[in-house]
Amino acid sequence: MITGTLLRTREISPRMLRLTFAVPGCEPTKRPDDWLMIFFGEPGDHSDRRNYTVRAVRPEAEELDIDFALHEGGLAATWARAARPGETLVWTPADGGYELPGDAQWQLIVGDLTALPAIGRILEAVRPGVESTVVVEVEDPADRQPLPGDVRWVRGRLNDVVRTFPEPDGPGYIWMAGETRTVRDARRYLRHERGVDKARWSLTGYWLARSEEWLERYKPHADELNALWERGEAEGRDEEAIMDEYEAALERAGL
Ligand SMILES: Cc1cc2nc3c(=O)[nH]c(=O)nc-3n(C[C@H](O)[C@H](O)[C@H](O)COP(=O)(O)OP(=O)(O)OC[C@H]3O[C@@H](n4cnc5c(N)ncnc54)[C@H](O)[C@@H]3O)c2cc1C
Repeated sequence: MITGTLLRTREISPRMLRLTFAVPGCEPTKRPDDWLMIFFGEPGDHSDRRNYTVRAVRPEAEELDIDFALHEGGLAATWARAARPGETLVWTPADGGYELPGDAQWQLIVGDLTALPAIGRILEAVRPGVESTVVVEVEDPADRQPLPGDVRWVRGRLNDVVRTFPEPDGPGYIWMAGETRTVRDARRYLRHERGVDKARWSLTGYWLARSEEWLERYKPHADELNALWERGEAEGRDEEAIMDEYEAALERAGL
């Protein structure tokens, strides 16, 4: 476990707060969407765990930034709003999924407010010569941020952006993060309707709308769904194949 001590807070936009932590011995991340499992309750208790991207890390200064999207309620968002210098958070680092293939000539980057930290890092680090199309959904134009390159700011369904994207010629890559059901639909499109090679996309559900309701409906199916992952992993099956089975089970359960 790593402990970060809050140094300062900065408002990036009305719904985005940057918290800078002192983290002795912090190391650079490997991928631009690497993230932290932050334990807001007991360290290791996953019911109070929330996931946040490393927006920036400065090993020389032993500092790390996390950008918190502020929304109604929420353990993490409420903590971030009230946090004062000197308070601490505990986390474990985890690997992101962004992996631009060596031959990619273009990339489509799609996400909402929660994905902006990763998108910022992706754009800051992308190798020259790759043409980036970036589409970000924010409810309020005041939450737009200056980012390297051209960004299309939209309101509405991001899965439709993936579904209707006019792909440029040549090999490319698609990265998307945002509300989980929206991402699930985009995954269905790329993997099942289009059969796009897994090396060509990375899609991650970052949060779930009305998660309390969803969790109540999930509970009766939790054992079955956990067993499905455990069995798949024990059999050494491909993660995407397990995900197919998991998502089919969610659909059957109306989740
Ligand atoms: C790999 C990964 C990286 C992430 N990186 C970031 C990041 O850098 N910055 C960031 O802000 N978020 C990020 N997220 C999303 C963040 O983990 C979720 O939004 C999380 O649910 C917030 O926790 P909470 O305790 O504030 O709200 P919760 O207690 O989880 O939810 C409380 C209520 O708020 C709703 N809710 C949760 N998140 C949102 C939201 N964003 N907008 C509107 N309603 C919401 C829920 O449906 C629920 O009704 C990331 C997620 C993942 C998986």
